[in-house]
Amino acid sequence: MVLSATPPSRARLRLVSSEDARTTPRAGGRLDRYGELADRRLAAILAAEDVAEEHGLSAHARTTCYVHRCWVHQCISDPLHVLVVTGHRWCRRCDRTVDVEIDETFPGSVELSCDGCGVPPDTVANREVLFACRTSLVAMHGGEVSTLYVVPDD
Ligand SMILES: [Zn+2]
Ligand SMILES: [Zn+2]
Repeated sequence: MVLSATPPSRARLRLVSSEDARTTPRAGGRLDRYGELADRRLAAILAAEDVAEEHGLSAHARTTCYVHRCWVHQCISDPLHVLVVTGHRWCRRCDRTVDVEIDETFPGSVELSCDGCGVPPDTVANREVLFACRTSLVAMHGGEVSTLYVVPDD
C-alpha cells in the first residue's frame, strides 16, 4: 500500500456548512461516533477531521479531539494529551508535563508553561499544541455560520 504524498487541501477538508451539520451519518457502516453530541456543528467538524486525518491531516493539527469528542482546547489539559514520546505537552529539559492555560472568552487565549524551567517550552511539538488550541478557539467562536477556516501550516 502506498500512502499519498500530497494530502488534499486542508481548506477543502475543513469546509463545513450548516448543511453538513444536519446531515445524518453516511451509510457504509461507519459508526456515528458523534451522534449524541448536542452541538451538531462540532459533530460535523469532528467527523470531517476524522476523514481528513485518514487523508493525511496530522492528528496534532486537529481542532477537535477524537477521544474526548470536543474542541481540542477543551481537553488539552487531560493527561491523555501529554505525549512524552513526541514531546507534545512535555518539557524535555525538565522531564515534566507542560501546563496549558486556556481562556475561552472571545477571542480566547492559550498559554503554555513549564513549572520546572519557568519558560514556555518552544519546541515543534509544543508549538503544534499551541496552534491547534488557537485554531480550535477560533473555530469554536465561528458560531452558527458556515465556516471556512484554514489551519496555518507553520
Ligand atoms: Zn482530548
Ligand atoms: Zn521545563
